[in-house]
Amino acid sequence: MNSIDSFLNEKLQIRPKIVVDTKSFEGKTDPTQYSAETHTILVKPTYNMKTDPEGWMVHESEHAKLNIKDDNKPYPENSVERVAYTAQFKFLKATNKAVVFNDLKDSKKFPTLSLKFTKYGGEWEPVLKKYWEMANGKDAPTNTKEVA
Ligand SMILES: [Zn+2]
Repeated sequence: MNSIDSFLNEKLQIRPKIVVDTKSFEGKTDPTQYSAETHTILVKPTYNMKTDPEGWMVHESEHAKLNIKDDNKPYPENSVERVAYTAQFKFLKATNKAVVFNDLKDSKKFPTLSLKFTKYGGEWEPVLKKYWEMANGKDAPTNTKEVA
């Protein structure tokens, strides 16, 4: 977990508690998740930032920074996911890990993120595409004020 720790310290200047956990990931595809109850980022033991880019840690860090309730819209349309995904996509673009939207759907580049685009018959794609566009624009939400 050293690489994840140093990534958070260097790039994000926050130190959320990070816990490697197996149980929380049963039946789930995402390699990371944020627990608002314990203010902790949970990481799947098999998660490898080299083969599955650190965008997920950016995503969870946004959850940790916000630590607020969402607006009750379904996943991934709710206000908190909007901020988290937009930050994740902004990071992937800034680091050239994703250049165009379709890169996100590439299972070789993004083994877990790409699964979001096939889930429920592609139901989430328009929402994620909107976040990709927001990540490329000036109006990307970055804090709680903008999502309120
Ligand atoms: Zn999220």
